[in-house]
Amino acid sequence: MDKHTVRGAILPAKEAIEAIHRVDLASPIEIPDFPSDADPANISADERAFLHAEIKRLKKEKNALVLAHNYMPRDVQDAADVVGDSLYLAQVGRASDANILVEAAVLFMNQILSIMKKPHQKVLAPHLGALCSLAAHADAGKIRAWKAAHPGGKVISYVNTYIDVKAESDYCCASANAAKVVQHVIKTYPSAPLLFLPDVYLGFYAAKLLEEMGESLDRLYLMMGACHVHDGIRPYHIEEKLLEYPGAAAVIHPECGCTSACMTKVREGKVAADMMQFRSTQGMVKFVKESPAQVIIMATEVDNAYPVSKAAPGKTIIPASREARCAFMKQNTLKNLYEALRDEKYVITVDPKLAKRARKPIERMLDIV
Ligand code: SF4
Repeated sequence: MDKHTVRGAILPAKEAIEAIHRVDLASPIEIPDFPSDADPANISADERAFLHAEIKRLKKEKNALVLAHNYMPRDVQDAADVVGDSLYLAQVGRASDANILVEAAVLFMNQILSIMKKPHQKVLAPHLGALCSLAAHADAGKIRAWKAAHPGGKVISYVNTYIDVKAESDYCCASANAAKVVQHVIKTYPSAPLLFLPDVYLGFYAAKLLEEMGESLDRLYLMMGACHVHDGIRPYHIEEKLLEYPGAAAVIHPECGCTSACMTKVREGKVAADMMQFRSTQGMVKFVKESPAQVIIMATEVDNAYPVSKAAPGKTIIPASREARCAFMKQNTLKNLYEALRDEKYVITVDPKLAKRARKPIERMLDIV
């Protein structure tokens, strides 16, 4: 198998799982440099105070709501009205009546707000270079080809997909509700072929759910895609950190490159299930609060440690890998958040025909919680 031709391919689940560690799942798009002011150390106290005061003033003046993803630089999180994962931000955005929704996140999330917004609202993104390596793996043409070859097949897209892919999908899910959505689709369509995309690690997770429900994997298909940040977190990162911090628990985002190996360890009883859990970005907060362990190894983007530490101040959070930083997310900075509010840019618009088709799977994602 040529590893370069397999990336982004749709394969039967068993074949995809078997190929996970032989496929080059690197980003299909160029990864930008980190802006210097994504690092809090590179913003002076005076500039920070000015930007925070101006953002506060502009939010009030323009009736704007600022939403920030958990992976944002800390300064951006501090300026936001709401901090959360993609599902939570979509839910809050849908419920808001603010005139302006400024979302410091990445484009696929901005598109969701633009699809769901009310007629009087404007959706703004601080930087148009905030893309996503995982979303870039998914190709709408490949999905159409799969549907043509599998009549009656149902497509479940992960939230990390652009509007053209969502328009081809029956359901969307986020990491926070992936299990519920997959279980719902399995039960609702007991014999239909199922395609889960684009993250093959989450696909592995979906496959385990299917098996736990006593179903064959034969009807499941997966796409060979991954997030370059989470893919970089490997089983050895977890093993090394657990050796360094005896007694620590581990919480792992199911997009990680260590997911299949760690899940297998738990299933084989080599690690106690309560000491190694697989949780969404937001679900990690709950786990950290509730775990009896004082030290938690956290396998996801490093800046998720900030909201988690705020929610559970008595716990010590150790990132599984300090290299797990998303340069796409970090294109959003305190400065361009201020400029977005000041100049009302960059307005996110979507193709109305695609938006109409993408709305249904998004609504299903927002309603199955
Ligand atoms: S962390 Fe990964 S999945 Fe999330 S936005 Fe960055 S590249 Fe995409």
